[in-house]
Amino acid sequence: MNLIKISDHDLHERTRTAASKEKLSTLELLRHLAEVQRRILYAEYGYSTLQKYVMQELGYSESESWTRIQAMKLIRTSEFAEKKIAEGSLSLSNAAEVQKYIQEFNFTSTKEIEETINLASQKSHRALVQELDRQACRERTEKKIILQKRLLEKIAKLNKLLDAEMTELEIIEALLDKEIRENELKHSRTSQADDLKPSRYLPIQVRRTVVTRSGHQCEYRDKNAKRCSERRNLQFDHIKPFGLGGDRSHKNIQLLCPAHNQRRMLKTFGIIDRLSKKHRTIKP
Ligand SMILES: [Zn+2]
Repeated sequence: MNLIKISDHDLHERTRTAASKEKLSTLELLRHLAEVQRRILYAEYGYSTLQKYVMQELGYSESESWTRIQAMKLIRTSEFAEKKIAEGSLSLSNAAEVQKYIQEFNFTSTKEIEETINLASQKSHRALVQELDRQACRERTEKKIILQKRLLEKIAKLNKLLDAEMTELEIIEALLDKEIRENELKHSRTSQADDLKPSRYLPIQVRRTVVTRSGHQCEYRDKNAKRCSERRNLQFDHIKPFGLGGDRSHKNIQLLCPAHNQRRMLKTFGIIDRLSKKHRTIKP
């Protein structure tokens, strides 16, 4: 198609069509990424995170992939967001900011999430970032809670038992202080004991052999024998599951990153297809 020769009107209409097609194909990509994530499919192709898959397999830059993954998470949580992206009123970069924000502040109610999405569809990216920063400052410094009657009665009862005249907040704080003190003590005792226990019953000799063999790197290889490059948070994995008669010799143990470990579990126990779409069930 030679664009130089078409009329102004045609050019305008075609540009509009191209833009709406682009928006729909963006959404299509997000839907695919959501399914790749659900199956941990990136692990199958040798990647330890979805981010690496999107960068190296799909060719997006680091920030482009971050934006797409955040937006994908948002449409998994909210059909409203999906609709807004489809109609073009919510940009990818704004969707990503919304996701970052609701994740940080643990927004779970549909109302809160949709309010933030509405805010994001009315603002430019820069204005949205500024507004969310302002809101975040407020959220970080204070948290309003409502005490139910039942709780207030318990507080009053404790006040009476202690023969104290503390306010509700003073009582809550005193109780928290007590719990924190006791748990800190308990924690310092158990962590000393933990160091002496053989961790997860895998003989130390086997652990050493496996770690040395792997060179501190995930041992997963894809079909083309490309090895996963992950070196963090590695976990010991039974090649033949312990429950199915696998032993603890180093030949049956491999070192895997969390993604490859999880993907293997999904496959071993055949639950990939049975995983339900739980992500849309968030209600106020
Ligand atoms: Zn791996």
